[in-house]
Amino acid sequence: MEQNLLKKIISFSKRRGFIFPCSEIYGGFSAVYDYGPYGVELANNIKSAWWKTMVQENENIIGLDSAIFMHPKVWQASGHVAGFSDPLVECKKCHTRIRADHFLEEIGIWADEKMSEIEINKLLDENKDKLKCPKCGENNFSKAKKFNLLVKSNLGNFTSDWDKSPVYLRGETCQGIYVNFKNVLDSTRQKIPFGIAQIGKAFRNEITARQFIFRQREFTQMEMQFFVHPEKAKENYERWKKKRWKFYLDNLKFKEKNLKWHQHKNLVFYAKEAWDIEYNFPFGFKEIEGIHNRGNYDLTQHSKFSQKDLSYRDNKTKKEYIPYIIETSAGLDRTLLAVLTEFYTEEKLEKGKTRIVLKLPKNLAPIKVAVFPLLRNRPELIDKARKIFNSLKPEFMCEFDDNDNIGKRYRRQDEIGTPYCITVDFDTLQDNTVTVRDRDTMQQERIKIEELTDKLHKKLNNN
Ligand SMILES: [Zn+2]
Repeated sequence: MEQNLLKKIISFSKRRGFIFPCSEIYGGFSAVYDYGPYGVELANNIKSAWWKTMVQENENIIGLDSAIFMHPKVWQASGHVAGFSDPLVECKKCHTRIRADHFLEEIGIWADEKMSEIEINKLLDENKDKLKCPKCGENNFSKAKKFNLLVKSNLGNFTSDWDKSPVYLRGETCQGIYVNFKNVLDSTRQKIPFGIAQIGKAFRNEITARQFIFRQREFTQMEMQFFVHPEKAKENYERWKKKRWKFYLDNLKFKEKNLKWHQHKNLVFYAKEAWDIEYNFPFGFKEIEGIHNRGNYDLTQHSKFSQKDLSYRDNKTKKEYIPYIIETSAGLDRTLLAVLTEFYTEEKLEKGKTRIVLKLPKNLAPIKVAVFPLLRNRPELIDKARKIFNSLKPEFMCEFDDNDNIGKRYRRQDEIGTPYCITVDFDTLQDNTVTVRDRDTMQQERIKIEELTDKLHKKLNNN
């Protein structure tokens, strides 16, 4: 796949109402994007698919929605205040700031944001002749320095030097899960092993806005933290690796050749094991989900900083221990970009024509059914089509369209991935049947209006 595909997806996303640059009328806002009318539906459908496989289908996983703002001590305990940082260099001529590890990667030198300043600066020194400022072309840079990624705010602080004791916007959603571990245990029937799942926003002061919605400053995570006995950590880790891989194949219908495992070699000191699932984006294989064995670091740290005992007491063995945590952490926005990459199709038709089709699995399609009157200037067709539309609307996400000609309406629905289009024509007025057109085969069949709801339910459930 080529970089060209990314350009096509970016322009398609805007033209068809999936993704808009944030505050575009003011020139946009770097590394932040808005979901348009079809983007929000697609995002919600991805979230539902995730929630269903994680929460609904697992008796021992429950949901949570914790706040974006948390006690500042949370981020001291987690290590983010001291160590959550990216190495940056600055061009001495034009003062552009660049992420040093990405800069090195671009000239083929493997680097990692977890390297120390000394390690990164050594690599930069060794390769300084090859590095050119992307903005002005000079190759005179400052030494790499680490910058903290947490986003600060003055929430609840009315002094002018709030900066000295800021409240942070959460850098990851999982901390909200760890600090609620005891509350969940005390308020539900769960016993170890069990998991807590959460979907929510997280914020990071990323220096480089790259690759469309892949790396954003405001983004949504879908995370599940599974609490286990230390001796069961390895087997649960392997089980979750398998389950999460299957999600992309069975629920999102990705081709297996577009997925790849990547093992982390440089682990953070507390982590026992870390693998990423990577997707074949137009700019190469990149992480869409991380599966981590975090050991007992998180609960140990929060016990220490909060002075609250977060150990678990096993009622059978009467033993107490700090559980290990197996984490599955997926990015919603990255998954959505992967979905667009996977299903954006330019299909060759007869007579040298092409059509763009978003061949989404039906459960992900923003609009399930579109209803058209054959002609726009015949009130009897419009009335009938409106009646059908109104009867289907409570059942499915539906759209009514009487603009342009029928060919253009089909093309528009194909592009936004609508599985079925219903047309009301003159035969409808005689025999109470409509044509139902299939997005992928473009075949049409006639269906009786009274059977329409049932038949559409059956078709849409058959993913
Ligand atoms: Zn420069």
